[in-house]
Amino acid sequence: MTKVRVRFAPSPTGPLHIGGVRTALYNYLFAKKHKGDFILRIEDTDQARLVQGAEDYIMKSLAWLGLNPDESPEVGGPFGPYRQSDRKDTYAKYAWQLVDDGKAYIAFDTPEEIEEMKVKMTEAGVVQPQYNAVMRHRMKNSLSLSQDQVDELIENKVPFVIRIKMPAKEDIRFVDLIRGTVLVHSSTLDDKVLIKSDGMPTYHLANIVDDHLMEITHVIRGEEWLPSAPLHVYLYQSFGWESTMPSFAHLPLILKPDGKGKLSKRDGKKQGIPVFPLEYVDEDQETYKGFREEGYFPESVVNFLSLLGWNPGTEQELFTIDELAEIFSLERIIKGGARFDIDKAKWFNQHYLRKKENSELVDEVMKIAASRNVELNEQRALQVINLMKERVTFIHEMIDNAPYLFNKPTEFDPQVVNKKWSAEIINPFQKYAEALKENENISPEQAKNSLEEILGEFQMPIGKVMQALRVSLSGQGGGPDLMEVISFLGGSEASERIDYALNQLPIKS
Ligand code: GLU
Repeated sequence: MTKVRVRFAPSPTGPLHIGGVRTALYNYLFAKKHKGDFILRIEDTDQARLVQGAEDYIMKSLAWLGLNPDESPEVGGPFGPYRQSDRKDTYAKYAWQLVDDGKAYIAFDTPEEIEEMKVKMTEAGVVQPQYNAVMRHRMKNSLSLSQDQVDELIENKVPFVIRIKMPAKEDIRFVDLIRGTVLVHSSTLDDKVLIKSDGMPTYHLANIVDDHLMEITHVIRGEEWLPSAPLHVYLYQSFGWESTMPSFAHLPLILKPDGKGKLSKRDGKKQGIPVFPLEYVDEDQETYKGFREEGYFPESVVNFLSLLGWNPGTEQELFTIDELAEIFSLERIIKGGARFDIDKAKWFNQHYLRKKENSELVDEVMKIAASRNVELNEQRALQVINLMKERVTFIHEMIDNAPYLFNKPTEFDPQVVNKKWSAEIINPFQKYAEALKENENISPEQAKNSLEEILGEFQMPIGKVMQALRVSLSGQGGGPDLMEVISFLGGSEASERIDYALNQLPIKS
């Protein structure tokens, strides 16, 4: 059996979209499942579209998610280099081989001449004019010109490209592991450029040559590449590499939550859905927060994405990356687009947050607190985690959702005040405030005993005053265990807050 070798082959033309991350993940899982290799290949032949920093962004994103390639520009490997610009001398000879075999040809047409042809054809009623089997004989290339003319043009350094000679009438057929048999008639395909006039290969040529040389066994990529697959299959046939041609699997699109179209970065921003793994600042200096900055754990993103286009065939939803690698299979990838459901992503994050040991969260909580100008030492951070962990989806919410843990409330939920703040609480609350003042390092149990004792004197059930007490201490109607909150605040702070509320809040008689 040949060893499974898959590649994730992004072009560094911008940040990695979440769809690209899913492609990388499925490649990774498939490789691990089959004890194969997961390769990262940077496809940067289109120098005009390169974006500074994009390659680094891709590598950092994969590293954050734990999708570590077995071979890559960074770690190297036996089939390197893994960046196409470092392999640029590799490709031309393959294109020339096709020219020699009569399967490709050289063409001298300028972009203007090609445009002119398209305009003319459109005027003549052709719906989608292309440089193809019908048109090539009317264009300036080695099929329409004599050898002498060609030699002369080359001699005069007239720029040329190499184009594939797509057969006029042939069925191109292949099996996609997700979609089944795909059949395309070659008359619908054009004579794509393989080598550009600057000598650089196009994506199509470089991709096929590299997949062949790197002994890739499965091409798992986004559905947007399905239209290119017939050309790729034809290239394998033309090179005589059919017997080692990789299998293809084209993944469904990731759709907006409403199912209407692809999820773009702007849609994402509008709907509060991150579409990038890490923060990205685009060419207009617009900042897009990534999953990481929104507070997602990499394991939540991995788990969430694993189910966005694939299902395990059971009801189970929670999987570690290693568990996924054991059960992943291409057969269970869905054919239709997968709707992005941000609430589900949050649900996963909440789960992974709860599963963490409190001690694992301390550093991050302290960091976030510092960024919000909240002073928090390790012990206090642990207390905050203890109070808040079960109540939030993201780590930062432990700080942001409970500002009263760190600052006196300045506003009080009017609904709670209206309903619960009544004359009969004044005396017991005054007494409780006094008792708290005497006991700075109060434990939750002590706080509770003292409250119960005082309420007992007034023959008041504790349930009747709890919300009023809470609103006086926190300004809010809900939150973590109130006695724990009092203990966290300390006796004098809690006492001051109750006094303040007693002075400020309107009493209903
Ligand atoms: N470089 C292509 C991209 O940016 C790779 C497509 C493929 O996987 O063949 O997505």
